[in-house]
Amino acid sequence: MDFLASDSLRGRGSGTQDELIAATYVASQLEQYGVEPAGDNGTYIQRGTLVHRKLAAPATLSLHPSGSQEATWTQGKEFVPVYLGRDSFSGPLQKVRFDEKNKPKLQPNAVVFLTSKNENEYRRAAFELADEGAVAVLIPEDQRARDRWQSLSEKLPDLPTEIEGGGTSGMTTQVAVFALSQEAVKAMEQIPDGTTVSFEPQVAPAEKTYTWNALGIIRGRDPGLSRAAILLSAHLDHLGVGKPVNGDSIYNGADDDASGTTAVLELARVLGSGPKPRRTVLFALFGSEEAGGLGSSYFLQHPPVPLKDIAANLEFEMIGRADPKVPREANWLTGWERSNLGPVLAEHGANLVGDPRPDEGFFARSDNIVLAKKGVVAQTVSSFAVHKDYHQPSDDLAHIDFVHMDRAIGSMLKPVLWLVNSDFSPKWKEGKQP
Ligand SMILES: [Zn+2]
Repeated sequence: MDFLASDSLRGRGSGTQDELIAATYVASQLEQYGVEPAGDNGTYIQRGTLVHRKLAAPATLSLHPSGSQEATWTQGKEFVPVYLGRDSFSGPLQKVRFDEKNKPKLQPNAVVFLTSKNENEYRRAAFELADEGAVAVLIPEDQRARDRWQSLSEKLPDLPTEIEGGGTSGMTTQVAVFALSQEAVKAMEQIPDGTTVSFEPQVAPAEKTYTWNALGIIRGRDPGLSRAAILLSAHLDHLGVGKPVNGDSIYNGADDDASGTTAVLELARVLGSGPKPRRTVLFALFGSEEAGGLGSSYFLQHPPVPLKDIAANLEFEMIGRADPKVPREANWLTGWERSNLGPVLAEHGANLVGDPRPDEGFFARSDNIVLAKKGVVAQTVSSFAVHKDYHQPSDDLAHIDFVHMDRAIGSMLKPVLWLVNSDFSPKWKEGKQP
């Protein structure tokens, strides 16, 4: 952890040479622990190719009301892009008040114009509407859009990064969100529901970059359980070098997520030195989590064992600080109520409780969600992800509570040893799979 979070790795920026050095270091540790390689060509490193695309010109929206003139709205004038989770869309305008008691029934491919009393609700509502099938959500400008209007006007928007082999990140929500200027909001009053709204941008030539995962495997000794692997994971990247705060520009990411990487390495050390477990155990230290779950999404498309043979995933995220909301030394498991995994680990000695901050949506904020969306019972062990040093240069070793972290990892050893030697079958509860 000392090395991973040191200034020499310059914050392990997603997809940078520093991320590769972190992955190479982690690989050398896995090798020393007697874990076999599970990366490319017999190595511990899996290199993922990422395809980045951006618009060739400012974004425009076309509005075609039936029977009247088409209008074109332009980025920086009538709107600014807030979130682009899809390349293009075209659908009927539907005006929705978010504070309606009942959830509105959306048209297929609806482009929602959202109104609500409370501007703090807009963004959360936009993502909820995406879950209901909206392809795009137009929100009135909120404070965050006003603050950044100038820069959001000028920057040509990025389209979602593609993972080589197809698709975008499993963390991407397939929706476009645009904030409308006050004038555009006024103009909306005259534009009828059902007007076709389209976004069909010109795209600049794509650019390729790489990200690196470190992968290891211990093959289980019980052939009957060989298709019930347990995946232990964390992310090895962080935010790299960025805007200085109090003269410090290195975002060390000690808690986020050198701590989780350390936990996975410690589990690898213990499992690598003991007798072979009954189940196969995979160790994955993902790159480019901070760029939107890109390393884990690449892994998902190029898994070292078939995905259907992975029974469960435990991701370790930010376990270097004690959460004052739970008993000291406890970790919480995101999505506790969604599966049978947390309670059974606790029964077997894990100092693990339910996530005390469900409003933060942590279940969907780490690599586990990428796997969970594909059906794997995938949850995150964490302890205090909302401290003031979160995503700051001050998330460094000086702010780690090593006693907490040591005991938190220690409490997971026995239950994980039990899990990888059991024939327990992790399952989502009815209707709780994301
Ligand atoms: Zn993280």
